[in-house]
Amino acid sequence: MEDENLTMLTHAVSTDLESVASAQRRLLEQVGVLAPEAVGLDSALGRILAEPIKSRSELPGFDNSAMDGYAVRASDIARATVTARVRLPVAGESRAGAVPGPLVAGTAMRIMTGAPIPDGADTVVRQEETSRDGAFVLIEVATALGTSVRPRGADMRAGDTVILPGQQLTSIDIGVAAALGHDRLMVGTRPRVALLATGDELVSAGTAVGPAQLVDSNSPMLTAAVREAGGIPTFLGIARDSKDSVRAMLEAASTSDLVVSSAGVSVGDHDWVREVAAELGAISTWRVAMRPGKPVLIGRLRNAVFIGLPGNPVSSSVTFELFARPVIRRMQGAHELHRRRMRVRIGEEMTKPAGLETYTRAVLRESSQSPDDLPHAHSSGDQGSSMLQSLTRADCLLVLPADLEVIAAGTVVEAIPLR
Ligand code: AMP
Ligand code: MG
Repeated sequence: MEDENLTMLTHAVSTDLESVASAQRRLLEQVGVLAPEAVGLDSALGRILAEPIKSRSELPGFDNSAMDGYAVRASDIARATVTARVRLPVAGESRAGAVPGPLVAGTAMRIMTGAPIPDGADTVVRQEETSRDGAFVLIEVATALGTSVRPRGADMRAGDTVILPGQQLTSIDIGVAAALGHDRLMVGTRPRVALLATGDELVSAGTAVGPAQLVDSNSPMLTAAVREAGGIPTFLGIARDSKDSVRAMLEAASTSDLVVSSAGVSVGDHDWVREVAAELGAISTWRVAMRPGKPVLIGRLRNAVFIGLPGNPVSSSVTFELFARPVIRRMQGAHELHRRRMRVRIGEEMTKPAGLETYTRAVLRESSQSPDDLPHAHSSGDQGSSMLQSLTRADCLLVLPADLEVIAAGTVVEAIPLR
């Protein structure tokens, strides 16, 4: 009977909360992709490709050798063995960067890796399968036709699409684009992200901390997180816990593409962010069924997307990861908005409130007892939303499903990698 009441109570409380997935979906639906821009290869790392990268020509552009050795006709060495070596006169050389003359039948041409295959040759014998005798080469293996020849166009044909839009460019992609003759690429524009902290207790890092004061750690963290997500952060400062101060700063912020504030979103007597943001724009979400981070504001400030993160540093970092990072990536046209999750096994029994999707800081250990190769996840320490030690120690955030209260050791869950 008591249990039933408890269930009803939990249910009643959770009905006015929105699930993380639903809040993310509604948020991302209203976020557009910014007009793309062209950048040089030197500035392309980590940017989101906006147009397909196509091959402008065949790659490789000419038949060339995969080995140092001798270019021959396969038919001339068809009987070669270690005990009955075939002896061919060496005529000429093909080296990288030069066009060789033709290969005369019954001869071999010295050839280097990457050098053009001479007309008349069809095969390269590796140097290790030959020995040299003055002006002659002795071939020990009946090398098959086409061996060690990289034919023109084997890698790519002109017009082939090689890298798709929406992909985040790696150093490898940049090299491939260069190989295909590109020196500029169209990429998603980096969104301008205005950041502000709120709270009378906050002072900037490096300033003396008075009694009852605390360093604003969210702003440096969020500045770095915006940059990591591809945005251009501008920190506007620390708003005081007054309606005017919060309004002045949110107004100044509203000319950017995205506004991210931290703290002042709850129901405290000095929490002004929700009220002011609703006056300047609109709030569409403010209670999400998650821990940490239940009060998180999502809406618009004029033309900017607005996300009001909770103030506790752990809540701030988790809600930034789940809501702000995908917005920044979507504005750049990224295909993958969310970090790729991994699968881990819970290393010990964990309990959590029913009805809230819970993000638990955890360290990962390789386990030999595991029935599979999944690492085991253990709590990284006190899970209070102001606890920094367990945050900085954590390898990942476990995503513990909303509907569960007790999760048995050994259960497989998803995790968001943090490093
Ligand atoms: P609030 O949402 O304003 O009630 O803040 C919740 C908690 O987060 C309080 O303990 C604040 O002191 C703390 N907090 C708020 N903003 C920051 C910040 N920028 N850096 C570090 N802690 C903060
Ligand atoms: Mg506050």
